[in-house]
Amino acid sequence: MHFLRSSITAVLLWTALFSAGHAADAAIALPPGVVTHADGRAPIESLFRAYLGLVEQGWTAEVLARSEPKGTAIALPIIALRSPTKGPAVWILAGIHGEEPAGPNAIAAAIGDIARLGARRPVVLMPLLNPQGYVRNWRYLNVAVYSEAVDGQSVGDSSHLLASTEDPARPRAAAASSPEADAITAFILTLRGDYPPLYSIDLHEDNLIDQGYVYSQGVEGEKDALAIDAVRALKDNGIPIKMEGRTRFDEPISGGIVGPVADSSIDELMSAQKVVTKSCAKAGPSAHTVLVLETPAAALPLERRVAAHATLLRRIADLLAHASPQP
Ligand SMILES: [Zn+2]
Repeated sequence: MHFLRSSITAVLLWTALFSAGHAADAAIALPPGVVTHADGRAPIESLFRAYLGLVEQGWTAEVLARSEPKGTAIALPIIALRSPTKGPAVWILAGIHGEEPAGPNAIAAAIGDIARLGARRPVVLMPLLNPQGYVRNWRYLNVAVYSEAVDGQSVGDSSHLLASTEDPARPRAAAASSPEADAITAFILTLRGDYPPLYSIDLHEDNLIDQGYVYSQGVEGEKDALAIDAVRALKDNGIPIKMEGRTRFDEPISGGIVGPVADSSIDELMSAQKVVTKSCAKAGPSAHTVLVLETPAAALPLERRVAAHATLLRRIADLLAHASPQP
């Protein structure tokens, strides 16, 4: 919201927003001069243009936070969009790790299918949760790459809301690890009132694996029908999938699917039955189905990875548009 105040240099991405009457949306702008990492990924301006096109279909767009971690010169907005109708919703998340561009690019490519899904049932879209990471090709807010030695600040870190294993009455962390994680998780806990998550899909990639897998964090774990379908769709699209064995974090894989894990991620939060803060405990988002796609990146050209994620999104959008309201 503060973004509007830097109006002197603001570039309006979609001037029709004014005529559409969604006054709050007019605040969504990118500052000029942002240079996106050049590996074939779409410039951030064109992603925003695609996402904000949903406002034309009656969606509401808003800025959750201005991300300006240490070492960056220009703040970038973290946005969310929601379809016109409230109710149990499909949530689609992407871009948590900046060096994984396939998901945010695939959402732009499949935006028409997401719009059609939003006309059939409630949808919440958080398409580029780490815009600074995306433009810099940085995984985290504070460090470029995964390291056992450095604690990378993930924008999806939810440890301040998830129960400690030693003391379930307390959260795993006393406070959010970054203002971005704080804003994103707070937004989820607020919007779950009008758009309670039924399905949550989070698009990731991994440079350090040559075969992918799908985490299924919801109540049905490895047996979740949408997870099984996602594995099939990825394989049909030529993405190598590790069907059995263990992930690189030593979690067991069954049929290409990893059952619920406690990793303090936003996905664990989406499936959590309860959330815990220093002062109280309350009901969690409790999504029935929570999928996290981990597809291999190093050996596949970006174009192919984007195409696979987009095909999967289209398939999920089509399936859920015609599915019964409850799983
Ligand atoms: Zn990732």
